[in-house]
This record gives sequence, structure tokens and C-alpha cells, in this order.
Amino acid sequence: MNKVALITGASRGIGGAIVSALASDGWAVAINYKRSKDTAEALARELGGIAVRADVGSSEQVAAMFSDVEARLGAVSLLVNNAGTSYYGLLSDMTDEDWSGLVATNLTGAFNCCRAAIPAMVRAKRGCIINVASMWGEVGASCEAAYSATKAGLIGLTKALAKELGPSGIRVNAVSPGCIDTDMMARFTPEDKAEMIDETPLERLGVPQDVAAAVSWLSSDKASFITGQIIGVSGGFVI
Ligand code: NAP
Repeated sequence: MNKVALITGASRGIGGAIVSALASDGWAVAINYKRSKDTAEALARELGGIAVRADVGSSEQVAAMFSDVEARLGAVSLLVNNAGTSYYGLLSDMTDEDWSGLVATNLTGAFNCCRAAIPAMVRAKRGCIINVASMWGEVGASCEAAYSATKAGLIGLTKALAKELGPSGIRVNAVSPGCIDTDMMARFTPEDKAEMIDETPLERLGVPQDVAAAVSWLSSDKASFITGQIIGVSGGFVI
């Protein structure tokens, strides 16, 4: 089977770092984006991959994206469900649209992509799926209850799919980042960030490359006996 990786939400932030790490590991990379066309295409030119647009919350767009990737690079053997969005505020202030938008991207997006990727992996008797969860999916965060729920859902999906797909030679794991300095943290003040650093035993914010290194390892043969695991990348924030 070809080394073809599809990374969702890969135009920037953690996804962008994952794409760079996997390309240097020798994967042909399909860089999914929703809005950031220019950055995704620039990354594809730089790394020799392809940029593919789809809103992961749409099953039709995801199905079309997988057909496009298969036609241009071959069947996807590594899927990284990284696309994600956040909502900060009280649960009781959320609208129906806030809730359904968050669930569509963070949880239904992973379902749509797994469902599209699994048949070819089962046929090949080989494959790897890595979900990008969050430490808040493990322990919950005040003012991020809906986000925490979607990430807890991803953790449940990871463990259950690992059992379902193990006999087909497919490994399913998750990485669980802590506070990683990306656009997603733009709403936080320097004082907020100082507090996060204070609560992190390794006394710094993470960088996207910290998460990418864990994904690179999990996708490699070095992790060939590892499935159903949630690998924390939080500097010890959650232990
Ligand atoms: P980011 O900088 O805000 O990037 C989000 C990425 O997701 C962008 O590439 C965006 O693409 C993409 N995206 C959003 N909605 C999408 C959709 N419906 N379909 C396809 N792509 C979509 O965020 P990040 O910090 O790198 O986060 C990446 C992942 O790590 C997320 O799942 C997030 O929950 C998780 N995480 C982050 C942290 C943190 O502290 N930063 C901590 C724990 C977990 P476009 O720009 O093209 O729209």
C-alpha cells in the first residue's frame, strides 16, 4: 500500500506542523482545508503534496475529497482527524447553531472521514487513524463544556474503533494536546497564557511541532503494537 496521508484542518496550526512532519517521514500528503486555500496550496507546493478543500462536517464533501485524493495519490493509508474549532463561553449561552457547528466539525467530521477511509484500509489489511483530541476531553474545562464533550466523544471513538478495526490490521490512536500556541489560543491574554504556563509542569506552552512529533511516531512502524491509546502532549498539565 502507498504511503498516502490525509490530514484534515491542515492549512495552519497543529495540522500544518503535522503535514510537514509526515512529508519529511516520506508520506505523500493530502492537505485538507476549509477556508485557508492560499496557505494550504503554498504548503502543498513546498512539500510536494496536494491541497484538497472540504468542510469535514459535510459527508458529501468528505466523500468527494476522498475520491479526489485516491485518484491523484492513491488510497489513503493514514488519516489524521485534526480539523477542529472551539467555543468559549457558558453552555447556557450557546445557540442551536453554535452547538451543531461545533459537533459537526469536531466529531461528525471525524466520523465522516473514518467512514470514507476504512473500506480501502480494510481491503489492504493495513491502515492508521490518529484523532486529535484535547486534554479537555479527558478532564473537562469550564466555559468549554461543548468543546470538551466533542473531544471526549473523539476519545470514545478512538478506543471503540481500535477494537473494531484491530483485527483488520488498522491501528487507531489519539493525541491529546494541552495548551498549544496557535490561532486557537488567540482569544487569551498574555496573563491568561502566563497562568496556563504556571499550571504546566514543564513550564511552557506547547508548539504545534510537539503534537506533530507524537503523530509522526504513532504513524510509524515504531508504534506498530500500539492501538486504542490516548497520548497526552500537555507538558504534564494532565497526568
Ligand atoms: P487552528 O490554528 O484554529 O486551526 C484549525 C484548523 O482546522 C484550520 O486548518 C482550519 O482550516 C481547520 N478547520 C476548521 N473547521 C474545519 C472544517 N469544518 N473542515 C475542515 N477544516 C476545518 O487550531 P489548532 O490549534 O491548530 O487546532 C488543531 C486541532 O488541535 C483541533 O482539533 C483542536 O481542537 C486541537 N487542539 C488544539 C489545542 C490548542 O491549544 N491549540 C489544544 C488541544 C487540542 P481553515 O483555516 O482552512 O478553515
